[in-house]
Amino acid sequence: MIFDLHIHSKYSGDCAIEPATILKVAKKRGLDGIAVTDHLTIRGGVETRTLNNDPDFLVIVGAEVETSNREDLIGLFLEEDIESRNAADVITEIKAQEGVVFWAHPFRFGKNLLRGDAIEQLDLIEAFNSKTSASRNELAKQLAREYDKPIIGTSDAHQPFEIGNGKTLVGGSGFGTIKEALASGKTQIADAHLSYDYLNDMR
Ligand SMILES: [Zn+2]
Repeated sequence: MIFDLHIHSKYSGDCAIEPATILKVAKKRGLDGIAVTDHLTIRGGVETRTLNNDPDFLVIVGAEVETSNREDLIGLFLEEDIESRNAADVITEIKAQEGVVFWAHPFRFGKNLLRGDAIEQLDLIEAFNSKTSASRNELAKQLAREYDKPIIGTSDAHQPFEIGNGKTLVGGSGFGTIKEALASGKTQIADAHLSYDYLNDMR
């Protein structure tokens, strides 16, 4: 099944997309499901999940937390907001909710900021982000290899047209198995293309 696991809504503060629009576009793009991952709040995910009345489409509630050291950690399958801003504590909080945690665009700021022991705790590493340059995505892939972490592709959409520009093929049969498949790394980057062509040659 194909998912875009990193999408923002109007509750992110830097984005105007309505949850209803996310659902409409994601389905048009042929996705089986999405994760709505607003900055610091699960509100967009909860609202999108409530609006979804299609039993053949899965909405995962998530949030993206920028730590005090500027790492962006994303929790999936959350039911409460994450309060911590320290990477190790954010990961602990996500796991306490039985969530799945991944590190979004690890090289967005040009270098790897997270310490090795925190990287070990991650379930997944986002190694394709449609709004990150090809070279920085490649660095993320290398990091995942180094730590033997499964990888995912996402759009990080802040505009409707960006939804589905990064995708992950998730193993498993039926929506009931998706969380377990993500937690155990049954993932593969699928059909990735950058949202902006100029990112191809940007360092
Ligand atoms: Zn994001």
